[in-house]
Formats: sequence, C-alpha cells, structure tokens
Amino acid sequence: MPARARAQTSAVGSVVEVVQRIAIVGAGPSGFYAADQLLKAGFAVDLYDRLPTPFGLVRAGVAPDHPKIKSVTRIYEKTAAHDAFRFFGGVELGADITRDELLARYHAVVYAYGTARDNRLGIPGEELRGSHPATDFVGWYNGHPDYTDLEFDLDHERAVVIGNGNVALDVARMLVLATEELAPTDTADHAVAAFHGSGVSDVVLIGRRGPAQAAFTNPELRELGELSRADVVVEPFEAELAEDATPTARRNVEILQEYARRQPGDKTHKVILRFCLSPVEILGDETGRVSAVRVVHNRLETGADGRVRAVATDQQELIECGMVLRAVGYRGEPVPGVPFDADLGRIPNNGGRVTGPDGDPLRGEYAVGWIKRGPSGVIGTNKKDAADTVAKLLEDAEHDRLGVPGDGADADAIAAWLRERVPGVCTWEGWLNIDEHETAAGAPAGRPRVKVVRMEDLQRIAAGA
Ligand code: NAP
Repeated sequence: MPARARAQTSAVGSVVEVVQRIAIVGAGPSGFYAADQLLKAGFAVDLYDRLPTPFGLVRAGVAPDHPKIKSVTRIYEKTAAHDAFRFFGGVELGADITRDELLARYHAVVYAYGTARDNRLGIPGEELRGSHPATDFVGWYNGHPDYTDLEFDLDHERAVVIGNGNVALDVARMLVLATEELAPTDTADHAVAAFHGSGVSDVVLIGRRGPAQAAFTNPELRELGELSRADVVVEPFEAELAEDATPTARRNVEILQEYARRQPGDKTHKVILRFCLSPVEILGDETGRVSAVRVVHNRLETGADGRVRAVATDQQELIECGMVLRAVGYRGEPVPGVPFDADLGRIPNNGGRVTGPDGDPLRGEYAVGWIKRGPSGVIGTNKKDAADTVAKLLEDAEHDRLGVPGDGADADAIAAWLRERVPGVCTWEGWLNIDEHETAAGAPAGRPRVKVVRMEDLQRIAAGA
C-alpha cells in the first residue's frame, strides 16, 4: 500500500506532497501493535528504541522459560518487513534527541516506552544489600544491558518475594528451576551460571491480601504446581469470594485450594505461598546484608467502594531469608520534555491523546501501552490499547489535527539527522545481525539464542563487525 500523503505548503510557498510519517518511541508490544495499525492505515512509521534490540519486555521481561509467549515476536517481524517501516535503535528520547526535534519532523509522535521503574514499599531496610526490585532481577536474568553487571547473592537458603502478581511468580519460578528446565532457555549466561551455583531452596511469596485477591493469572499459577524440583506449599484456607469475583479469581482460589490439599512433597525445593501478610521492615545482619523480613498479619475488610482491603493486626512474625525481591508493580519514569503525571507514574492522556496542563489534547502527540494506562494486562492487551489510540490519531488526521512537520523532514533527511546525532544508530538490518549472531550461538546447545548482554557488543555486532 502506498504511504499516505498530504498536500502541504512549503517554506517557499510551493505546494508539495508530504508522506505522513509517524515516530513511535519504544519498540515493545504496544509500539509494534501501533506501528502495524498505522502502516495498515497508510502511514510511514519510524520506530525508535533506546536499545539496539527491539521487542521491549518480550525480550527483557517475559521469563526465559516462556518461549511460547516470546514467539509473539514473529508477528512483530512481519510488521517490520513493511516497506514503510524503519527501526532506529540505540536512540534515547530526552538524551540523544528531544521531543521538539521529533515534533518538528513527524506528523505525530506516539509514546510507547512503558513503565521502567519499580514501586517502592517505603519500609525500613529496603536499601539493604540483598533487597532488590524484581525489575532488576528480571532485567538481569534476561540479559538487559542495563542490568548485566548487577550482582545477586544466591548463597542462602531462603528468598522472600513480596507481591502476588505474575512478576512475583516469574521470579519465584526462575529461582527454583532445575538445570534441565533452564538449559533450553535464553536466560543470560551470567544468570545461568549464578542459578547453577545457587543455594536457594525455599522461596516464600507474600501477598498482603488473600487468595481471592491475588493478581496471578490462572495458567501462571497452575504452572507453579508443575515444576520438576519444587513443591508448591499452601496452608489450608477459606476464601470468601465476592459475588462479582472474576472467573480468574475464582479459578485462582480453586488452584490454590488444590495446592493446599496436596500431601507434603519430597522435592528438593519449595515455593511457599503465604497470604494476608505485609512486610513492615527488612532486617540486616552485622555486614549490612538482608537477614529477615518482619511481617504483620492482616485481616481483610471490604470498604464502601466494594474493594477488599488489608488491615494490619497486632500480630507480627519474622521470616528469615537472605534475599528480598519486591514485585509490587511498576511505574513510569519522566522523560525530559514529555508531559508526565508524577502521581500516576504515566503520561497524562485522554484515550491516548496526550494532554497538556489544561487537560486539552496536544497536537500530534499520543500514548500507547503501559505509559498510557499503567502496568496492567498481558501482551495481547496492548493490541486493543494501541487500536484505541490509533483510532484517535486517524480521527485527528481526518480533521487536519496532526502536527505539521517543517521542511527537510523527509525520510532521508531524518536518517541523516539521526546518523549525525547517534553515529551508532541501529537499523532493522543491524538488529538482524544481532539476531543471527545470537541464534547461531544458541543452536549447538538447542537454545533459542545466547543473548549478547553488553551495549558495546550489541553495537559492534549490529554494525556487522
Ligand atoms: P500486578 O499484577 O499489579 O501485581 C502487583 C502485586 O503487588 C499485587 O499483588 C499487589 O497487591 C502487590 N502490592 C502492591 N503494592 C504492595 C505493597 N505496598 N505491599 C505489598 N504488596 C503490594 O503487577 P506485576 O506482577 O508487576 O505485573 C504487571 C503486569 O504484567 C500484570 O498485568 C501482569 O499480569 C503482567 N505480567 C504477565 C505475565 C504473564 O502473562 N506470564 C508475566 C509477568 C507480568 P494488591 O492487589 O493488594 O494491590
């Protein structure tokens, strides 16, 4: 399909046909779904990412033992094969290029850069050695170059994971995977080595509310009961399901009740799920390293809004451990120049149209994915989310409400500007070099790939060296 063009008056007064070109910032699922829909609507799309590698959390977030979930990249590869698609990796908005520079070159900018920062618990001891956000641990085992040099001591028996979402399940599972479960994955080599030498045999997952309020999805919770060397342990419980409980919550309770009925197992490792506990303090030993978590027992109370809340009792308990991973959600980080709602941790927007301080939409600026709606849903949720924003963009295009790029904003001028600004800018061909290198390195061991985990190596391989 030919790229969508629009008549525009140039600086010297002549009328020229200008291809309508959109910049998308962030090459994760929401960025790719938006790209696909915009390409199908006839726009040209330039997809930017801070890393030379595309696919965002599919590459650096999804657990390595979930290859089926990762295979969604085949769909994104089809999008990238479109004639009017270009990838500019290794380019950071707010550092290498500015928002104003993008707005001067594109009919619209779509922000799709996700929510990279972890939520904090705000309790004493959170900064102790051995207390980490799960985001760091996930980035580390997935070979994200920003996290490669982090160190996680695994020379202790018990780790505590705070949170009852799928990220908590992912990190708990990764900690107890058997060698043969880890072997066929693309877990970064430094993490494989650390997991092989790990002494962690017990992982305790702590939820502040009850089994009926856990944020797990059913397949992920069920998978926890099928690990080769780890038993799942749940104390018998009675769960009060609200009348309007979702099918997911109902099924979660059934799965957890089945776990509670299981006879004690004899596997070498355990994942222990505990509910209605909130951490109040992380304690350290004399060397400043995590030694225990103090938790308070909660009772559940339904508020006037119908939401079930955890209310602390006066009963406390100490859980000894050598590591604490906080998996209590993510939040967005402000990017210089781009509107940001610090309370919500996302870009202020109205159905995907970025809004200014007065709440009115800003011309030519849109948001998709987690930076638009917050960190919720599964990968596929971003398809509908992107479609909602793209519908707004198309409506604005029909009414001449997109941005008006300046002269010299054609495809070649943009590429030349980027090469000058970021000499190592990585194109889709550069990524294909990395992909080929990684998959070739993984093939002899039957692994999908061996990840290149350092920025300088990624850039060198992308450049074909
Ligand atoms: P999440 O699903 O929102 O879960 C966050 C958990 O943290 C909740 O259990 C929440 O409890 C708890 N929490 C929040 N603040 C807390 C505090 N101060 N103290 C104790 N607990 C606290 O977030 P997530 O696990 O980071 O996942 C993000 C999204 O990615 C989710 O939509 C998830 O399904 C998705 N994801 C999917 C997969 C997959 O499909 N395999 C894998 C990973 C992530 P309350 O409910 O009480 O607030």
